[in-house]
Amino acid sequence: MIGLVLASKADTLALLPRMELDVHDALSKDRRMLLSEIGVVAVVGAGQMGAGIAQVCAQQGYRVLLADAALERVNSAKLGIDKQLARLSDKGKLTPAECAAASARIEATTAELAYPRADMVIEAATEDRELKIALFEQADSLSRPSAILASNTSSVSITLLAGRTRRPERVVGMHFMNPVPVMKLVELVRGQQTSAETLATVVALAEALHKTVIVSQDRPGFLVNRMLIPFLNEACFALDEGVGSAEDIDQGARLGLNHPLGPLELADLIGLDTVLAIARVLEQDFGDPKYRPPVLLKNLVAAGYLGRKTKRGFYCYDDKGAKVRPAP
Ligand code: NAD
Repeated sequence: MIGLVLASKADTLALLPRMELDVHDALSKDRRMLLSEIGVVAVVGAGQMGAGIAQVCAQQGYRVLLADAALERVNSAKLGIDKQLARLSDKGKLTPAECAAASARIEATTAELAYPRADMVIEAATEDRELKIALFEQADSLSRPSAILASNTSSVSITLLAGRTRRPERVVGMHFMNPVPVMKLVELVRGQQTSAETLATVVALAEALHKTVIVSQDRPGFLVNRMLIPFLNEACFALDEGVGSAEDIDQGARLGLNHPLGPLELADLIGLDTVLAIARVLEQDFGDPKYRPPVLLKNLVAAGYLGRKTKRGFYCYDDKGAKVRPAP
């Protein structure tokens, strides 16, 4: 069992203005229990996000059980994580021993074998509501009753997922940002039935991973993607209407808005399938056509041009993931 770094109560409460009383109670009552119960984290979905989550958890001393629909995906994710750890070691940010220890803490397995051993499950599979519902039902049936079930979903309702389990108070959104080892933020999502104790535990876990936490109520797209997706959609509409080139749209955001990445580059990084899935959830759940995804985005996804992960989206990428040119 690995103890978590205690979250500063003052910091935590400042982030939780609408829930300060119950979180305060949960933190003070069962603080030690909350923060020492998590030693083994199951990460289900070993794509770009799951691999990043597994890496940061392992670097902070957690045992990680990494699973995907297919074992080859987990094995290739593990190779990718080892490369990332080696890079950190080359840069002097990890010693070779720390690097080896982090790698050894990650076990490639299947979800069925991982659930019964996990104190905490973080689901990071493809952004698809039905798939996530099925995964939560299975996680609930195979995990220990005390385990917390978290989803890294970008948009699917946490209350909906929780409602398909027998432990809705122990279901929560834990929305990491991409790339996980680099990005400081974790957006926590409190479902309708998420308990203050569960929220306090994942605040402490996120802070133990050296992340900064924001908390969102359970509304479509939460906070971050509610702001981001209309921006990405609009950039895609502008491109489709010929208002400007992909490079000028992205340059406009980088130099004009001081964004580190332009919206089309960012969409390619996120994955166009994921962007489209989030836009569809926003459009459907708000019932507002302002969130409708552009036809160009739908066409790129239908063609299998999903961004960096398929080496083509709005741009073409080389084998190392470097941007080469705008897609023809
Ligand atoms: P990805 O396409 O890189 O990976 C998804 C993984 O899920 C794949 O490896 C796939 O094989 C796996 N998967 C599919 N069905 C599965 C099943 N039944 N059981 C286990 N694994 C299964 O996608 P990603 O970018 O890593 O996104 C994963 C989740 O993280 C999504 O919910 C997404 O919305 C969210 N998210 C993504 C980003 C981003 O920038 N890409 C940022 C924050 C959150």
